[in-house]
Amino acid sequence: MEHLTRRHVLLGVATTVAALAAARPLSGQAPPTSAGPADPGLIEDLVAANRILVDQGVLDGYGHVSVRHDRAADRYLMARSVAPELVTTADIMEYDLDSAPVDARGRATYLERFIHGEIYRARPDVRAVVHSHSPSVIPFGVTGVSLRPLYHMSAFLAGGVPVYDIRQASGGMTDMLVRNAMLGQSLARVLGSAPVALMRGHGAVVVGSSLPAVVFRSVYTEVNARLQMQAMALGGPVVYLDPEEARRAEASIAGTIPRPWELWKKKALGR
Ligand SMILES: [Zn+2]
Repeated sequence: MEHLTRRHVLLGVATTVAALAAARPLSGQAPPTSAGPADPGLIEDLVAANRILVDQGVLDGYGHVSVRHDRAADRYLMARSVAPELVTTADIMEYDLDSAPVDARGRATYLERFIHGEIYRARPDVRAVVHSHSPSVIPFGVTGVSLRPLYHMSAFLAGGVPVYDIRQASGGMTDMLVRNAMLGQSLARVLGSAPVALMRGHGAVVVGSSLPAVVFRSVYTEVNARLQMQAMALGGPVVYLDPEEARRAEASIAGTIPRPWELWKKKALGR
C-alpha cells in the first residue's frame, strides 16, 4: 500500500513536470509569475493599436504591437499569435522579458516575440514596441539609401535610422525571423537609443514612450518612406529637415499626438 502511494506521488510529480515543460517548452522551467491584472484601459488601447496599425497600412496579417505592463517593468502585454485586425481583449497575454508567456493556456505565441522582450530589457525608456513589415520602408533597408525626415511629421527620424542585418548578426543564413533571444539582443543593440530601426529584407521595429506615441511613429515612418521615394523619383536634390528644424518640430508635434490617436481609436473600435 505504501509502495503504491509513493508510486502515485512520483507519477503525480512527473505529470506536473511534464505539464510545466509543455507550458514553457523553450526553457523547461516553470512559467513566470504574473504581475497581476493590467489596467483595462491599457488593454483596450493595445487592442485599438493593433487595429489602427492595420487601418493605416503598417500591419497586415503579420506584425505585432506590445506594451509594457503598467504594474511591472519586467512584464509586457501582447496578443497571442493572431492577425492584428482580429485582436480582442481575450487575446492579450502577459510575457516576461525572456518572452515566456505567463499563462499560455495552449495559445500560440508570435515567433518573433523576442524583439519585444529584448528591447524592453535594453531600453527602460520604452513602453511600447511595434514590429512591422511596413512595405514602404523595405527599399531603405536593402539599398544603402538612408531613411531621412523630409517633413515635420517624421521629425523623430532626424537622429538617424539604423539598419539591422540578420545575416551579420547571426553570422550566416537564417529564415530572416528574430526567433530567439540572441537575435532579439542583437536587434536591440543595433536600435541603440533610436526610435526606429529597419530590418534588412524584412521590415522595421519602432519604439515609443506610450501606445499612442509608437503608433504615431509607425504611421509616419511608413508615410515618410513613401514620400521620400516619391521625392527621389522626381530627380532633383531632396531638402531634408535640418536637425534644428526637426528638434523644434518634434517638440511641437509631441503635444498633439492625442488628437489623431482619439480619431484612430474611435474608428478602430467602432467597427
Ligand atoms: Zn517579422
